[in-house]
Amino acid sequence: MQANRVEIDLLQFKKNITLVKASVNGSLLCLPVKSNAYGHGLVKMAKAAEESAAVDYLAVADLSEAIELRQSGISLPILVLGALFEEQVPLLISNHVEFTIASPYKARMVLSHCEKMKMSCRVHLEVDTGMRRTGMRPSTAIDLFNELKGQRWLKIVGVYSHLANGGPSTDPIAQKQIEDFAVCMKQLSSRNRPLLFHLANSYGIQHLPDAMLQMVRPGLVCYGYPSEGQSSLSAVQPCFSLISRVCYFKVVEKGQGISYGHAHITSDKTRIVTLPLGYGDGYRRSLSNQSHVLIRSKRYPIVGNICMNQMMVDVGNDSVYVGDEAVLIGKQADQQISVAELARLCGTIPYEILCQFGSNLPRFYL
Ligand SMILES: *Cc1c(COP(=O)(O)O)cnc(C)c1O
Repeated sequence: MQANRVEIDLLQFKKNITLVKASVNGSLLCLPVKSNAYGHGLVKMAKAAEESAAVDYLAVADLSEAIELRQSGISLPILVLGALFEEQVPLLISNHVEFTIASPYKARMVLSHCEKMKMSCRVHLEVDTGMRRTGMRPSTAIDLFNELKGQRWLKIVGVYSHLANGGPSTDPIAQKQIEDFAVCMKQLSSRNRPLLFHLANSYGIQHLPDAMLQMVRPGLVCYGYPSEGQSSLSAVQPCFSLISRVCYFKVVEKGQGISYGHAHITSDKTRIVTLPLGYGDGYRRSLSNQSHVLIRSKRYPIVGNICMNQMMVDVGNDSVYVGDEAVLIGKQADQQISVAELARLCGTIPYEILCQFGSNLPRFYL
């Protein structure tokens, strides 16, 4: 019997990826499952994706995630997005994962490992069109492609870039990226070998139809978070809930301070309940005195500073009992607390809220 749990609605997740797949005009769907599948659980989400048949590729940030997927029996193609270190190369090759080459130096290094191991590998060239994170210049990619074509060990199967967009105000930046990538594509695709070109993330597939190429890499929207405002995918729904249970109850007189630093003073005699969940479990301390929880289908404020593994909630005069469920993210009857709401309150983005819930919170898959 766990006090806290994350619930993942796999049926909803499968609906989401099916909706996304149907919206991308036949592009292959590469599902990013980095950072523990945006907090949802790496292996379970990958398995659900594999079962659904809507997903053609998985993308991870680094080698360890790829190995975990292979060891748990996932057979979808896996693309490691992050820059690689030399000592990882033999493992990348022997685990049959595809990976990113972002410089000619790394390409030659990988090639020499392939020759030594007498094993071939499949790689994607990353082109920087404006993110300035990893990736080579388009002209470098074209030269490298020519250098490597025809040799047997290192197979270039894809060429990709990443959008630096942060919403509508950065659409002109994305437009320039799309154009620069198109120039690069044109030079590479005339060489009569089919290549997977891919560029669009979640924002791209919802707002930039020109960014949808042979493959797309939407993460956030697949987990149920379409971009706000106009989105062709407004039907996708979150599949992540965070639920705790009331573990303690007390009556507090008017004018009493609550928690560390007495950052909240009661304005009346009231009932305060405690939940056994705090910032040590990934619930941000900066939500202290800001966010709400749902108990018995009603919204109540979190009061006082959030502790490492506990927090207090003011339930007024209502009857709330030890053992009652408290929803911190998700739905209860007609009430809802969204990831976007929490992100706004602590000045961050939904991605960061989802990623921060650690593995000490058990995940239950519905
Ligand atoms: C994380 C990531 C994505 C997915 O981004 P979303 O905004 O979640 O759709 C796509 N491509 C790369 C290279 C990434 O790092």
